Amino acid sequence: MKAIWLENNKIQFKTALPEPSPKQNEALIKIDLAGICSTDIALIKGYYDFTGIIGHEFVGTVIKAIQAPELIGKRVVGDINMACRQCHFCQSGLSNHCENRKVLGILNHPGVFAEYMTLPVDNLHIIPDSVSNEVAVFIEPLAASLQIQQQINIENSDQVLVIGAGKLGQLIAQSLKTTDCQLAVSVRYEHQKQCLEKMGISNQDDIENISGKYDIVIEATGSENGLQQAIQCVKPKGRIVLKSTYANHAKINLSAIVVKEITLIGSRCGPFDKAINLLKNKQVQPQLLIDKIIDFDDALQAIHQAQQKGSLKIILKM
Ligand SMILES: [Zn+2]
Ligand SMILES: [Zn+2]
Repeated sequence: MKAIWLENNKIQFKTALPEPSPKQNEALIKIDLAGICSTDIALIKGYYDFTGIIGHEFVGTVIKAIQAPELIGKRVVGDINMACRQCHFCQSGLSNHCENRKVLGILNHPGVFAEYMTLPVDNLHIIPDSVSNEVAVFIEPLAASLQIQQQINIENSDQVLVIGAGKLGQLIAQSLKTTDCQLAVSVRYEHQKQCLEKMGISNQDDIENISGKYDIVIEATGSENGLQQAIQCVKPKGRIVLKSTYANHAKINLSAIVVKEITLIGSRCGPFDKAINLLKNKQVQPQLLIDKIIDFDDALQAIHQAQQKGSLKIILKM
């Protein structure tokens, strides 16, 4: 099968890899669409040492599932963390932090920039008929956006700033718009601003001159400077949620965190069921964020385009 292979910070388009064969508890899935995420780009740049097929945002169709034949033919998305269910983290309900975990296309499990892949049946979520593939491919990053609301309580009176209006920042903004908080987003590029305007989300453009205004700041720039800006924009005793993974190490003035008594919260994967519900109810509109849908045969070029500054979502069509 065809797939995108990462090795030593270089990607190749391979055409003759063997089709994966599912274990007892797994399904074989034919990928229909796959989204290119900033984490994929960070992986290529060396954020994590991984050799193999990359990609983790997908929508696909179940071809084979030994223990769950009722899934065959169903359109699915999947949780990217595969837990051992034995370790003390798993036993205490923290399976996303399983010490033996595998992560789709990131850690010890081949990813979705391929024609086929496998995933445990327990990780799969069936997509409602009313949600198209082009929308469903956003379920995983939308779930990650919703994790913020799982971690912190957001009040109607809270002034909330999202720094960064790229692929993930836009989804975070749309998901926060479903709360009644006072939301603003710092936007750099005109087309990103237009996407936000369509959702009625206001723009905060001069964040360099803002100091101590926001109760909550979400850092989603994907660049190391984002956290420093967040520290400046947040109120004393405020909260900062970090969503970016950086390929490089950030240089931060940590004293400001002490002096302002800021709470800093890391945030990763989130609830798929909540993401699916928001999409079913059309409360978020991720299709606004599609830059291009590119044929899988041109995947290398697509990944190159996804690395351009300001790009929104590029989707591979298998
Ligand atoms: Zn991702
Ligand atoms: Zn475990």
